[in-house]
Amino acid sequence: MNLIEHFIDGKIVSGTSNRKGKVFNPSIGKQESEVILATKQDLDLAVQKAKKAFETWSNVTPIQRARIIFKYKEIIEKNSDLIAKMIVSEHGKVYEDAKGSLTRGLEVVEFACGIPQMLKGDFTENVGTNIDSWSVRQPLGVCAGITPFNFPAMVPMWMFPMAIACGNTFVLKPSEKDPSCPLKLAELFSEAGLPDGVLNVVNGDKEVVDAILEHKDISAVSFVGSTPIAKYIYENAAKNEKRVQALGGAKNHCVVMPDCDLDQAVNGLMGAAYGSAGERCMAQSVAVAVGNVGDKLVDELSKKVEALKIGPGMDKNSEMGPLVTKEHLERVRGYVDLGIKEGADLVVDGRDIKLQGYEDGYYIGGCLFDNVKKDMRIYKEEIFGPVLSVVRAKDFDEALNLINDHEFGNGTSIYTRDGDAGRTFANQIKVGMVGINIPIPVPVAFHSFGGWKRSLFGDQHMHGPEGVRFYTKLKTITSRWPSGVRSDPEFIMPTMK
Ligand code: NAD
Repeated sequence: MNLIEHFIDGKIVSGTSNRKGKVFNPSIGKQESEVILATKQDLDLAVQKAKKAFETWSNVTPIQRARIIFKYKEIIEKNSDLIAKMIVSEHGKVYEDAKGSLTRGLEVVEFACGIPQMLKGDFTENVGTNIDSWSVRQPLGVCAGITPFNFPAMVPMWMFPMAIACGNTFVLKPSEKDPSCPLKLAELFSEAGLPDGVLNVVNGDKEVVDAILEHKDISAVSFVGSTPIAKYIYENAAKNEKRVQALGGAKNHCVVMPDCDLDQAVNGLMGAAYGSAGERCMAQSVAVAVGNVGDKLVDELSKKVEALKIGPGMDKNSEMGPLVTKEHLERVRGYVDLGIKEGADLVVDGRDIKLQGYEDGYYIGGCLFDNVKKDMRIYKEEIFGPVLSVVRAKDFDEALNLINDHEFGNGTSIYTRDGDAGRTFANQIKVGMVGINIPIPVPVAFHSFGGWKRSLFGDQHMHGPEGVRFYTKLKTITSRWPSGVRSDPEFIMPTMK
């Protein structure tokens, strides 16, 4: 059995815990590794090493930091096949999708190479006579990241390259379901020349998460995961005086207008609803069919959902792999059962597929519901599986209100040829990331990623300019050089003359 440990101060270490978690290969439904679940003491060791490393790393010039990050980019590219295979073997998504998600993470590394430009401050000469004022952004100290299972490379890479480029040191606590890839990412950063202690990985579960939230030497916490845990992280990190950004779950709607290019909408929806078996926070899990487009949309979708090629992630023909664990498979199946009970029409039922040679894998076929109503739990809750619900709306306004009334606000999109509908949608929708004829509007690395409402607790989105703001604090300096003219004490509020 393969053993997955921690990475602290540039070394693989096993720590003090005797608790272990099971890591499965979901394509075959077998446990292949054990991961050590860290104690509070293990976390404290990582934080102390990161705190020590901060003393020197924060004084390394931005251009020197950028050079190490540039080298890291090259090393990731060289190892991309190995990393993608690690993702497939523990998460289950298909190989090309795993590679694509790594590329999206790598783009943040590329953005971080430009950190000297992002850290340039503002300067005003003569804010008062012979007085200059300037603002700089300085690193926070030790930052922590807590990440979900569904993007073991991309989501950690939204965080640590930005934090480190800004001069912070970092402790990452990845998902215990697929920890091999994030551990490898940290080892490769060392190979690129990152000093020991700047990036540490501590594996574990709630015990180590709580230790992060309580640790007095951690200045900021970035979290991505489900909404109940995001809220817990937000409240407890803030209570312990930390800066926090906590991204939560989603229920993303795709509005299909009667005037749209239907082929484009159907193909967009297929990838967005069933890609990565629906285990994406930007998956489209609701299609809102407006006006008379519903019957045609359901007809076209059902043919494609039935034809989906399901299989192990390393099979080139697979379009959709298994779900991450047996428990998650049971949960998603349970939601399909529930949808039937609630009165929705199950047009395509993927619950009972069996793959020859992979009978123990955690597979489910694509499922498609029609006539889903807004009071049903399958509409209100995040399923996080390959289940698409079609809701009928009589017009654009009803579709808009449906989305604005939903508790989540991560991503959404509209398919239309009408510029006015597209513009009004973008302007009035209460969602953080919006696509117009784009199925998964994930912002690129030099913009920032984040949702609204209960999809994000905190003020700053991830990576891009908001990432730089999150991982730095502002300092403004006002200065006058002695000019030989002596001034008397002033007891009134100074105003600039
Ligand atoms: P999760 O909330 O179960 O776990 C996320 C992290 O929190 C893991 O590291 C886990 O170890 C830790 N954790 C779990 N339970 C905890 C507890 N009780 N106390 C403290 N820590 C705990 O999420 P997941 O199942 O790994 O990931 C799927 C979820 O993540 C979905 O809801 C998905 O929408 C969301 N997600 C959101 C985004 C986004 O950008 N908004 C991106 C990816 C995933």
